[in-house]
Amino acid sequence: AKESGRNAYQFFTAEMNVLAFERLVLENALRQAVERQEFVLHYQPQVDMGSGRVIGAEALVRWLHPELGMVPPARFIPVAEDSGLIGAIGDWVLYEACRQNRAWQEAGLPAIPVAVNLSAVQLRQSELHESVAELLRRTGLESRYLELELTERTVMEDAEATVRCLRRLDEMGVMLSIDDFGTGYSSLSYLKRFPIDKLKIDQSFVRDIVADADDQAIAVAIISMGHSLRLRVIAEGVETAEQLEILHRHGCDEAQGFHFGRPMPADEFAAYLARRNA
Ligand code: C2E
Ligand code: CA
Ligand code: CA
Ligand code: CA
Repeated sequence: AKESGRNAYQFFTAEMNVLAFERLVLENALRQAVERQEFVLHYQPQVDMGSGRVIGAEALVRWLHPELGMVPPARFIPVAEDSGLIGAIGDWVLYEACRQNRAWQEAGLPAIPVAVNLSAVQLRQSELHESVAELLRRTGLESRYLELELTERTVMEDAEATVRCLRRLDEMGVMLSIDDFGTGYSSLSYLKRFPIDKLKIDQSFVRDIVADADDQAIAVAIISMGHSLRLRVIAEGVETAEQLEILHRHGCDEAQGFHFGRPMPADEFAAYLARRNA
């Protein structure tokens, strides 16, 4: 038993070394990616359930590594957050989303807000509202055409500082939404104090909404609570007409998901927007 215990220990540390090594490789590659500008944004439509019109776009970052190919954000965002690289990547994402949205407007496309995901690290910058103001000036985008998505966890981490920061952004006219709503720990009493415009029902409640009565009950509760607080409610991860029908029947305002469109490159999204909102 002693012998196998030692082997298990050696195996374990070898595994850990591989993991640590992989992470280091990823971190170094990520550092280079920032310098070489290997990131692109894809855009996923958000649709108004009543009219069927596109009323927004979520910007989702993609890393195109010359050898690794497309690295999904779930893989590299955590590494970026731990290594401090999220600052540079997040700044670029914000800038690029605003620049692109302004360019669409100048090309005569219908004006819609672009939603950008903010990590907790970005929200903790004390001058976030100033860098956002500067960014809007630089790109010429009106504040109401920028929306920031924050998760419950992000918002709750430092609730007092976050309220101050979000109030400033709200006063500027930037739209604010809570992402993955329903998966974080209860923030109901805080929700009232945050100047939030929109709740995004997490896709885990939408996935089985047709068959699972509990998931449906949660989605319905979120819609009803959101409306009581005068917030708009959007469902994420809508893949089928059946899911859409249930959500629409319960008064959900907006939907986003493969049923309408996958995240797509900027030029494809522009064509989609022109076609859908014609
Ligand atoms: P998220 O913000 O919850 O984004 C939604 C994710 O669900 C996206 O994955 C999107 O492609 C996927 N999705 C959309 N519709 C459907 C659907 O109908 N079915 C299914 N199964 N999935 C759908 P993606 O692009 O891989 O992004 C994963 C996560 O990475 C995002 O989750 C977000 O937390 C993070 N992320 C992406 N871009 C950024 C960014 O620029 N900054 C930060 N901080 N995080 C980002
Ligand atoms: Ca999001
Ligand atoms: Ca607002
Ligand atoms: Ca989400």
